[in-house]
Amino acid sequence: MSARAIIDSLDFARSGKELSDEVPVSELERLADSLYDRSGILRYVLVGQTDGRQRLRLRLKVEGTISLRCQRCLGRLPYPVALESRLLLLDDKAGGEEAEIEDLDAVAADPEMDVWSLVEDEVLLAQPIAPRHSEGECETAVDTAKDRAASPFAALAGLKHKQVN
Ligand SMILES: [Zn+2]
Repeated sequence: MSARAIIDSLDFARSGKELSDEVPVSELERLADSLYDRSGILRYVLVGQTDGRQRLRLRLKVEGTISLRCQRCLGRLPYPVALESRLLLLDDKAGGEEAEIEDLDAVAADPEMDVWSLVEDEVLLAQPIAPRHSEGECETAVDTAKDRAASPFAALAGLKHKQVN
């Protein structure tokens, strides 16, 4: 089990540090609401950078698979996460205006930045608003005549029928 990663964000970027590790999906509380289950692991790479204008940035890559809930059949929908974010670090001096002009994502500098929380933020932003299986791939589609005999629901329906009689 990995320990939560805490970095001093400005120092991390200034020194060009790099951190790569894994986050168990089960540890991401805010993400849990939109998940079918909390299985899986997200791998991340966080790199500190100074850009051409001497501004400190973080580059974050996240990869892995999470299990979303299909909005049509409510079944499990494996969703591959593959995102890369460039985040401008904002300290008190920089303010928010600069980031808006540059159309860059920004994050408040924090001497005790929680990297798992940062990963979670980016995954929350990247996930689809209404995730769905492709057409014809929903779990209800399995319930066709040829599969009905093998379905546990069919067995259950048969049982109910007997009880009624
Ligand atoms: Zn579905």
